[in-house]
Amino acid sequence: MSTSGPPAPRAMLSLDEALACLVEGSVPHALTATESVSTFEALGRVLAGDVRSALDVPPADNTSMDGYAVRAADVAAVGAVLAVSQRIPAGVVGAPLAPGSAARIFTGAQVPPGADAVVMQEQCEALGPEAVPGATTGTTPGATPGAEGRAGAGLGRVRFLAVPQAGQWVRRRGEDVRAGATVLARGVRLTPQALGLAASVGAGTLQVLRRPRVAVFSTGDELVMPGEPLKPGAIYNSNRFTLRGLLQAAGCEVNDLGIVPDRLDATRDALRRAAAGNDLIVTSGGVSVGEEDHLRPAVLAEGRLENWQIAMKPGKPLAFGAVRRAGGGAAAAGEALFVGLPGNPVSSFVTFVLCVGTVLRAMQGLPTALPQPLPLRAAFDWPRPDKRREFLRVRLNAEGALELFENQSSGVLNSAVWADGLVDNPPGQAIARGDAVRYLPLSDLVDR
Ligand code: AMP
Ligand code: MG
Repeated sequence: MSTSGPPAPRAMLSLDEALACLVEGSVPHALTATESVSTFEALGRVLAGDVRSALDVPPADNTSMDGYAVRAADVAAVGAVLAVSQRIPAGVVGAPLAPGSAARIFTGAQVPPGADAVVMQEQCEALGPEAVPGATTGTTPGATPGAEGRAGAGLGRVRFLAVPQAGQWVRRRGEDVRAGATVLARGVRLTPQALGLAASVGAGTLQVLRRPRVAVFSTGDELVMPGEPLKPGAIYNSNRFTLRGLLQAAGCEVNDLGIVPDRLDATRDALRRAAAGNDLIVTSGGVSVGEEDHLRPAVLAEGRLENWQIAMKPGKPLAFGAVRRAGGGAAAAGEALFVGLPGNPVSSFVTFVLCVGTVLRAMQGLPTALPQPLPLRAAFDWPRPDKRREFLRVRLNAEGALELFENQSSGVLNSAVWADGLVDNPPGQAIARGDAVRYLPLSDLVDR
């Protein structure tokens, strides 16, 4: 997108050209403000600063098995018997292992100094209580070393049914994270497992980008909200729910302006309200070139329009540009980005995941390339392809091939619910059963 000069919308763009244009236009609108949030609340947020670890994880060698900690050299042969000198549950710090003894130990407990292996309890035979002079129990964390009672006399002995290798069942200090390492680099979206990793190094708060603020409205005089009676000629507004949900899944703050009538003045007014205080405006419907389609003239009057047609199916009419913000300042600061999606529910959904998803990623500094398609076999024929690039609603079957939803009409929202992915089919490409096609899982597209 250009940032100045008269609007000069181009001819129908390929999807790749349109996406490149969307990225280029979004970069000047990249979010920079950050905030500190509790790690509890950071799911889906974009990390704004590296997370470094001040500690080794795990902080000490510990056992990955319930069993007995030993010096491997003390168990040189099957049948060896050692006195049990202490008992070390998880969370308890053991005393140094007395020579020629074993420590009863439980998963997650630190291996006591001197021990170099753990024998799992399934390979041991407890020989019952028998007095072993000099045995000790472990200490609780922070307790004074040596303060434990010398109560090991009742811990008995253990016979080993296997010969341990040095190091076996010991999780090494720092094997997950080394002190000083960057565990999460700025610019990633925080997944549940990333939150776990941040927590494992003790990060209770995280610095994240502020959420994108997105205004959304639906156009169409035929639209009625669920819960209201359906008057003649009306349909229920489904896009409002789909788009709002997609925006929420993408981590946006959604400002929902509701339904806007099919009139130029009302559309212009809604755009002005939407531009104030939002980074992006997403609309559905009214982007074709009919007399009742007011978005293009409204955006031209209130800002600039870069294009309104993409050679894809579903989703040919798709407008993008920007809307001026009253008193908004120079360049990007003075306008909100605008993407006008087609009204047909499947078109709206597909263009959102491909195009709006890309804009949101560019604004947050995330990688903008579409997910890598998986080459999978078609379990269907598609003999009459469109001359535009098509995105077919498909589902993976038990054989690992793709089934096609029977009705690919852009009004049939059932297809988008039934499907678990889209086949990205090149322009004019017929498909025969057994052909390799390009599969994009919806899970990689929604919330990407
Ligand atoms: P339009 O893009 O406004 O020409 O709309 C194309 C088709 O999508 C028409 O059949 C509309 O009734 C339908 N449509 C538009 N907006 C919505 C919406 N929010 N929910 C459901 N269908 C819609
Ligand atoms: Mg309409």
